[in-house]
Amino acid sequence: MVEKKYKTFYDVVCPFCGTLCDDLEIDVDEKEQKVIEVRNGCQIGTRKFFSSNPSGHRYMAPLIRENGSYKEISWDEALDKAADILVKAKRPLLYGFASTECEAQSKGVELAEILGGILDNTASVCHGPTLLAEQDVGVPTSTLGEYKNRADLVIFWGCNPVHAHPRHLGRYSDFVRGYFRQDGRNDRYIIVVDPRNTNTAQIADLYVKVNPNEDYELMNAIRATLRGVEIDQKEVAGVAKEDIIKLANIMKESNYGVIFFGMGLTQSISHHRNIDTAICLTRELNDHTKFLITPMRGHYNITGSNTVFTWNTGYAYSIDFSRGFARYNPGEFSAVDVLLRDEIDALLIVASDPASNFPAAAVKNMFKHPIISIEPHHTPTSVNADIILPAAFAGIETEGTAYRMDHVPLRLRKVKNPPGETLPDREILERLIEKVKEKKGE
Ligand code: SF4
Repeated sequence: MVEKKYKTFYDVVCPFCGTLCDDLEIDVDEKEQKVIEVRNGCQIGTRKFFSSNPSGHRYMAPLIRENGSYKEISWDEALDKAADILVKAKRPLLYGFASTECEAQSKGVELAEILGGILDNTASVCHGPTLLAEQDVGVPTSTLGEYKNRADLVIFWGCNPVHAHPRHLGRYSDFVRGYFRQDGRNDRYIIVVDPRNTNTAQIADLYVKVNPNEDYELMNAIRATLRGVEIDQKEVAGVAKEDIIKLANIMKESNYGVIFFGMGLTQSISHHRNIDTAICLTRELNDHTKFLITPMRGHYNITGSNTVFTWNTGYAYSIDFSRGFARYNPGEFSAVDVLLRDEIDALLIVASDPASNFPAAAVKNMFKHPIISIEPHHTPTSVNADIILPAAFAGIETEGTAYRMDHVPLRLRKVKNPPGETLPDREILERLIEKVKEKKGE
């Protein structure tokens, strides 16, 4: 018999996107502590597991930038210098927290409060408008398992799961067999509403091409049609009146419908008003049938960061502790806004890469100030940081909790040891809190 040189971990949760697939099988070379095979993952999820193996892109020890180049320092020295920067800052920004586990997110809240800083997570540049809308009008929603078992009409509005959440379709929303949808794809009608003919649109039963930034108008035209109002235009938002009537009828006649929406809705003109209207449309459809709505959350634990921030402070993102208590004002305390106004004087970036996706003017201001980056590998943000604190991958090298896009909490698993001197995010933050308290004499 051939001796097995690796250990297989079953039912591993994928820490990449908000679908949090929990059926991955990971083979790990126990001697080398390397991932050697990933089964059931999509391409992007699989890639994340392999990217945890030591490579030229992985930080293995704390680094400090001196005279334009990085040198290795001890953890104690690195944390001491990081604490120095944060304690001396008048208005530090703590940002990120989407790609780490809930326990680390909670430590981030604690640190922000001690520092009197600004605390924000990546929702402020993705589904922040969703949270605002939900606070305004509530949300009729459910779990992905319910959709899988019951939905016969699935609408993807302003999202492209074939690229962004590849296994969502196979596990919950399209090809999968459900308890009441035994024939899988044949038992579901799929609609995509998007300005672009995306790969998801190409596998839909009906593709509705809406004009860019006119989703609000289209949704309200459907709402009016549902109420029996005759539309007095030939088309709304680029969609013919007959197609709007057809769309409203398909929705009404379904047994159980769901709208999954993405940043095509949250980040186009009208922002949270788009989501207000989508939720109102969903609510009104319940006069005719069962209808629900769920955002397609991107980073695997961004839902967790909103949840953890809320249970600690009452608010999901864009929080300011400068007055000694939590204040909430997206647009004022959001990371991009404070950077554009150049109001901060130091940054702690945790499990995030704002340099890749913030506006150029915000990034330019960000690089004017000291940056501490808690990060496992090279990113456009971390390669410009002053201090790099090397992190273990949550969900691969350390356990933790993460919330799926439908708010179901799942336990992340550890399949291998963290390499080099890397530490879990929560431990780094715990030790940083101790240093900060020491310096503040608390
Ligand atoms: S769909 Fe998302 S959670 Fe599932 S394997 Fe792919 S990246 Fe991971």
